[in-house]
Amino acid sequence: MNRVHLSRKPRGPGFAIQDPFAPRGMGHIAYIGIGSNLGDKIKQCERAISEILKVDRHKLLAKSSFFKTLPMGYTSQDWFVNGAIKIETDLEPTELLGALKTVESQLGREETFRWGPRTIDLDILLFDEIEVRTERLQIPHPRLHKRQFVLVPLAEIDRSLIHPALRKTVQELLDDLKEDQGIERI
Ligand code: ADP
Ligand code: MG
Repeated sequence: MNRVHLSRKPRGPGFAIQDPFAPRGMGHIAYIGIGSNLGDKIKQCERAISEILKVDRHKLLAKSSFFKTLPMGYTSQDWFVNGAIKIETDLEPTELLGALKTVESQLGREETFRWGPRTIDLDILLFDEIEVRTERLQIPHPRLHKRQFVLVPLAEIDRSLIHPALRKTVQELLDDLKEDQGIERI
């Protein structure tokens, strides 16, 4: 975990004195999917973004529009609001997952069931060009390429973004989806 420590950006003179060799500008690029279908959905998505950005090792690089989308998986529930952001982060993937889970619980997400209603859902969609396949964390997000509600916001940020495992752009993945899953810009 030494490497994690060394990749942190100096945060002030005190830190620089402790670690004069800490590299600067070593941020990772991460894309985060945001979704909500309980309560004031747009407000919760906005709040989640501002809570994520309160972590002083995150910088917002781009933000998609919000979209109204139909539920998938478990379809007898209210429509969702979905969007995505692109951030620069000094956190490693598992640390970022932890930070997102903290924001989810701050916003009152309660465990229901898989794909059930939620006040907020924060997913790591892509992280640099890495691939992670553990039980707790999978990057790229395993269902990213099948979901319009993920691909459409991502394409709005950067349609030529590459899925590192499938070696296709976000636009190509979108074109591969045959049917319209029900999504409209808010
Ligand atoms: P989904 O986002 O597919 O609707 P959930 O949010 O209910 O499903 O799933 C939560 C669990 O998924 C988390 O506890 C987390 O450990 C795991 N998970 C695996 N990969 C990721 C990822 N890339 N981003 C966020 N959570 C992930
Ligand atoms: Mg999730």
